[in-house]
Amino acid sequence: MVDFLDLKKINEECRSELIEACARVIDSGWYINGKELNEFEKEFAAYCGTQYCVGVANGLDALTLTIRAWKELGRLAVGDEVIVPANTYIASILSITENGLVPVLVEPDELTYNLGAAEVESRITAKTRLILAVHLYGQLANMSQLADIADRHGLLLLEDSAQAHGAKLHEKKAGNWGHASGFSFYPGKNLGALGDAGAITTNDPELVDVLKALRNYGSHEKYKNIIQGVNSRLDEIQAAMLRVKLKYLEEQIVKRRVIADIYMRGIDNPLITLPLSRGTDVLEYGAHVWHLFVIRCDSRDELKKYLSGKGIDTLIHYPIPPHKQKAYEGFEFVEGDYSITESIHQEVLSLPISPVMTEADALLVVDACNKFSVSK
Ligand SMILES: *Cc1c(COP(=O)(O)O)cnc(C)c1O
Repeated sequence: MVDFLDLKKINEECRSELIEACARVIDSGWYINGKELNEFEKEFAAYCGTQYCVGVANGLDALTLTIRAWKELGRLAVGDEVIVPANTYIASILSITENGLVPVLVEPDELTYNLGAAEVESRITAKTRLILAVHLYGQLANMSQLADIADRHGLLLLEDSAQAHGAKLHEKKAGNWGHASGFSFYPGKNLGALGDAGAITTNDPELVDVLKALRNYGSHEKYKNIIQGVNSRLDEIQAAMLRVKLKYLEEQIVKRRVIADIYMRGIDNPLITLPLSRGTDVLEYGAHVWHLFVIRCDSRDELKKYLSGKGIDTLIHYPIPPHKQKAYEGFEFVEGDYSITESIHQEVLSLPISPVMTEADALLVVDACNKFSVSK
């Protein structure tokens, strides 16, 4: 049996440290907005190379509150257009519509599954104010080009880094390319808490100031509310868990790369398209932290069933694109052609990958993939 992701095993590696950190929080008698959060914010900002980090309750809030903060600062307004990839997890789109802004869904570059520069530039209108770049599957979007476009057109650039902790391009990490970046520490992410958590990284002190009020009922000072905020805090106990787990992130990324390498070198079934297989020149290999190892296959459902029969667990990220979800039924998206996105959703399959997966298991997966054939 090859598990998709064994969270228990991942956390077992640092179990005693987690328990110590837990005890430290319990014994402190202070459970919200305290020392652990403060320290984690400093440590995660340092890791990303940014000046600031603001902890919030989850990744969706990280994105939603950043857009909300830019509205408070007068940099965005209801009705503004936001360029966002059509093939992303629905949270990216929800953060836009929740704020009353208009998502302009853009087809991804098929090489990377991320926003491509030419496609983005062709969709900019007089109403465009923000580009929301998602680093899907753990690979950075081409941020040097997107940052250049944002610069030339005077647009804000927000990263959805929920799947890309530690991914870097030209030595600059995810979280430090845009004007701000949203992270999720959902347990299954590459840096995962033992519950929900999220954060924003940025180099903008004004944004930090508004975010810190927004997450706390719109208040910097107890019982003085300067804006209509929300309750979105990163608990002390989760901050303490994340401080332990952050220390292991780099070595875990290396372990994910070992598994990805085995897949990249070993899988040679012509029915299967590997990631980056149409050329690797656009981005450095280091830009990928392999949150997910996503292959494509015309007979995806058959392949999934076949691998399952061999005891290999796979998942689909994602089966239904956001614009086809019931939640957006009747929603008037800016017109566009989503055929690339729709075919991606029909053909993608995520193979097991994690820092605790053994090389022997990876070789089993390679062997099974190579033996797959389609009955005519
Ligand atoms: C997980 C994820 C989110 C949302 O994070 P939560 O912490 O679950 O709210 C947002 N965007 C992407 C791309 C994600 O993968």
